[in-house]
This record gives sequence, C-alpha cells and structure tokens, in this order.
Amino acid sequence: MDLKDKHVVVLGLGRSGQAVCRFLLSRQARVTASEIKSLTELLADKKIRELKEAGVTLEAGGHRWETLAQADLIVLSPGVPPLPELEKLKAQGKKILPEIELAYHFLKGKIVSITGSNGKSTTATLTHKILSEGGLPAFLAGNIGFPLTNLVDSSSPSDIYVVELSSFQLTYIEQFTAEVAVLLNITPDHLDWHPSFDHYKEAKQRLILSQPENSLAILNRDDAHVWELNAARKALVWAFSLSRPVTPGMYLEKDWLYLHLDQPTKFLHRQEVPLFGPHNLENIMAAALVGKYFGLPDSRIKNSILTFRGLEHRLEKVTSIDGITFFNDSKATNVDATLKSIQSFEENLILILGGRDKGGDFKQLIPALKNRVKAAILLGEAKEKIQKALAGTVPLHPVSSLVEAVERGYSLARPGDVVLLAPACTSFDMFKNFEERGRRFKEAVLALKERVQPK
Ligand code: ADP
Repeated sequence: MDLKDKHVVVLGLGRSGQAVCRFLLSRQARVTASEIKSLTELLADKKIRELKEAGVTLEAGGHRWETLAQADLIVLSPGVPPLPELEKLKAQGKKILPEIELAYHFLKGKIVSITGSNGKSTTATLTHKILSEGGLPAFLAGNIGFPLTNLVDSSSPSDIYVVELSSFQLTYIEQFTAEVAVLLNITPDHLDWHPSFDHYKEAKQRLILSQPENSLAILNRDDAHVWELNAARKALVWAFSLSRPVTPGMYLEKDWLYLHLDQPTKFLHRQEVPLFGPHNLENIMAAALVGKYFGLPDSRIKNSILTFRGLEHRLEKVTSIDGITFFNDSKATNVDATLKSIQSFEENLILILGGRDKGGDFKQLIPALKNRVKAAILLGEAKEKIQKALAGTVPLHPVSSLVEAVERGYSLARPGDVVLLAPACTSFDMFKNFEERGRRFKEAVLALKERVQPK
C-alpha cells in the first residue's frame, strides 16, 4: 500500500489515532485528524501538539463529512462506531480501513486474534502470558490499549501478535486475517451503535469466515451464534465447552478441564483455577488451546494459568467489612457480562446496577436475580429503565451516587453476603471510563471500611 502524498483522514485521536498519524507521517501521507473533542481539549495534550507541529491538520469539535468525502483513505480508531455517514461513504466506494487493518498491511509476523462480546481482554492477556512465558516472541496489541500500528516498524516474521479486536474494528475489515482466531461468545452488546443484532453478529463472525484453510479457529461449542460458524468455515476448528466433550479441543467434565487433541488428558481441576466463575474457565480453555497450537508443553501452560491473577475491574475482590465482601466488576458493561458475574456466586448478592444504557435487555437478568440476588441498587441514567424492567423481582433501591450505592449495599448486607458492582451499563454518564468507575468504587469501599473499622 503506497501512502505517499495520499490524503488520509484519521477518525479519532486517542492512543490508536495518534499512532496512526505518526505512522502515516512517516510514510509521507497528508494527514487530517478528525475528533469530537474541542481544539482546546486536544491541544492540552502534548503529543497532539507535536502531531500538529509535524504537519497533521486538526479538525476538532466533530467530524466534517465534506473532509471525509474528499479523502483518499479513512482510517478508523478502535472506538469509532459504524456511524451511518461512514456506511454511506463506504457504499459510495470510499476506502475505509480500521486501524488494525492498516497495521496488518505492513506488519511482519503471525496474528492470533481474540474476539467475542465478553472476555477478550482477559483471554488476550492470558494468551500473551502463556506464549511469552513459554519462551515465544509474543506481543499484546489491539483494543486492549496497545495500538498494533506502533509495533509495525519493529515487527519480524517470527513474532506472534495477540490482538484483541472490537466489533467496531471487525465491521470494516477487508483483508485482515489471523493464523489463529479465537471467538469466545456472541451476545447482544453495542446495540446503541449496531443497527441490529444481526449486524453486530456478522461483524463478530466475519473474521472466522474469511480465514483460509491452513489457519485455526478456536470456537465456543456452547454458544449457538459462534458454533453455527462450524458449518461455514474453511479453517480448521478446535472447540471448547463447559457442557460436553469436544475433540479436538478442551472441555469441562466432572470438575476437570480436559484437553483432547490426540487423546483425552486431565489438564486442571477447576478448584486449582485462580479466577472466579465458569466464564473464566472458557477464557482459560481458549488461551490454553492457543498455547497448544504453538507447541507448548502442558506443564508450562498450566503454570502460566495458575499464576494468572486476572485483570483489574473484572470480578476483582476489593475487601471484606464485617464479613461482607465487596467485588468490583466495573467492566461488566453489558447484560451478559453481568449475568456471568452473578452466576459466579452461589447466592446472597447485593447487586449494584446502572450507568449509561447500551440498548441492553435487562429482563434477561430476572431468573438470575431471583436465584441469587437479595436486593439491587440502581444508579445512573439507566436507573428508571432498569427499575421498570426488574419491577416485582427483588427489592430495588435507586440511589444518586456510587458512594451512596456502596453505603446502601453495606447497610442491606449481612455477614456472608457479597456486594457486587456489575452494572450492565457503560460508565460514561458519570465517569470517564469503566476504570475510573471501578477505582471510585474501590475508594468508596475502603473509605467505608476505614470509618466502620478504624485501625
Ligand atoms: P472484554 O475485553 O471483551 O470486554 P473482559 O475480559 O475485559 O472482556 O471482561 C469484560 C466483562 O465480561 C467482565 O465483567 C468479565 O467478568 C466478563 N467476562 C469475562 N469473560 C467472559 C466470558 N467468557 N463470557 C462472559 N462474560 C465474561
């Protein structure tokens, strides 16, 4: 791909957008960056000032579609949703590439892609841990915060890139493919942006369908939207399952994780697994299968799993106060993640829900609420919608701040109970991102502990 003197518009000037601008400048393209933030906000960032000085034209305060219409190429940052205007330009034949695909055209090395509605970051991080602790030259990139574009210039053919991909990026991929593609699950998410569930599902499925014969797809046997690909794919398939034996693949049977490539072998007992919840067993199986594909011995893979502590804000234990334990799952930003989170505990939960709605169907929480939740505390923009959806199930307590939610949780709980933040919504109505929401939650819990149990 020759970029010299091409007019390229980069949509979004976050970490990835900035990496793309630098990359394009080094290839002598003419670069315009289009951002929703105001010019003042942008110029407060030293890195963006440097880009401007190096020749990037800044278009701030919203995307100007006339500029996009005149571009030779549009590059999308990972967080840019499939906006209707983009779809229109695409239909008119405009070349639009996600950041990941631009990087792909120039990258040397093998790609392991991790996609799915939930579990991507956990699985990508564990996969990278397994491969690198197994002595392989593995790198973590993509949605997880390390733009692949930054790795292009130092890449070499023996490298392995573990790339976490969002549905937004997948919507626009053309030639991007992966030697190994993991698809964890497809459940409703981002329905505030994708025009329909089918549109979202197609984005998630696209990569597997485009994989050539000599590649590997690692698929969740228990997810009907994932498994329907088994009939349509060209790639080799390895499966994982919590419900039935699968071969080649990994599965759970009588509390043991089995690996069955040539013959069934006991791999790990579920009690040994350091992460909470059945969904994390799925993530572990998917990551372990990638390790097997690259020829690593079982013992090394097991060791990497046993020493994996999980990621911050994903079912993270905060502390206990008077026998009440607080868990932070701020990353549970959709209904399915919250469901999985609830299902990771036996019962006696006080659940904190709410934030900005992504078009989720909160009624799907009802059976799990009835079985395991004593009360739900409702927060943020979505609280009325949630209240309506869950009326008559468990006692509902609307509150107006996260601190109040923590205090209410503590006052409702009894020793042995768990107070769980798993909001099924994004954080953007009250916080910068899910990380800030999770940190504030932990601060509020620790402040409460300090007050009721001073040292
Ligand atoms: P992603 O990068 O896809 O958002 P994360 O690993 O960050 O995934 O986890 C996001 C949320 O989904 C967390 O709340 C986590 O507890 C939950 N989760 C993790 N793995 C799975 C899975 N395999 N299925 C469903 N939910 C999951």
